[in-house]
Amino acid sequence: MMSDTAFIGLGSNLAQPAEQLKGALRDLHQHEKVSLQRWSHLYQSAPMGPKDQPDYVNAVCQVTTSLRPEELLDVLQAIEQSHGRERKGHKWGPRTLDLDMLMFNDLRLNTERLTLPHYGMREREFVLVPLFEIAPDLIMQDGLPLAAWIHKCGLDGLKRLSEKIEIV
Ligand code: ATP
Ligand code: MG
Ligand code: MG
Repeated sequence: MMSDTAFIGLGSNLAQPAEQLKGALRDLHQHEKVSLQRWSHLYQSAPMGPKDQPDYVNAVCQVTTSLRPEELLDVLQAIEQSHGRERKGHKWGPRTLDLDMLMFNDLRLNTERLTLPHYGMREREFVLVPLFEIAPDLIMQDGLPLAAWIHKCGLDGLKRLSEKIEIV
């Protein structure tokens, strides 16, 4: 039973970022224990951290799954690897694909491998805005609606790309 719901943040700024994200959505769609429910448009954002790197393309998707959270993280990391993700150099450096688990049901978790909800969501418009597109009624861990988080976060030049993403 794919009875658990997770939100996943996708990002890329290397090797045709939009194609990386579409490929990752397809990979999730094809996984037998993951069912892709909804996905946002693609958004272009300025890099977080080091500025001497290309802009990012970001999106958020919602899945249901029969996997445990750690198993879903394994799947996300395997997809990152299959897209040539290299973990080296400085934090927040350029990457072909980043898949971050934003939330898993209402679970709160803080292990060596996995923090849920994702620790960085609150300050990241490139996460909150696409998330709002697919889950406008979402209530966040502090009991506030997602819209209030977006209001606090502020908007700073995130650009929604017009392309409609078809996943087959
Ligand atoms: P940030 O997490 O600030 O967005 P990043 O995505 O570039 O930075 P990564 O190199 O992708 O960081 O991941 C570093 C580690 O974060 C991973 O090895 C993973 O075990 C851990 N991690 C903890 N919580 C999560 C989560 N919710 N989703 C994905 N990875 C997580
Ligand atoms: Mg990340
Ligand atoms: Mg990551």
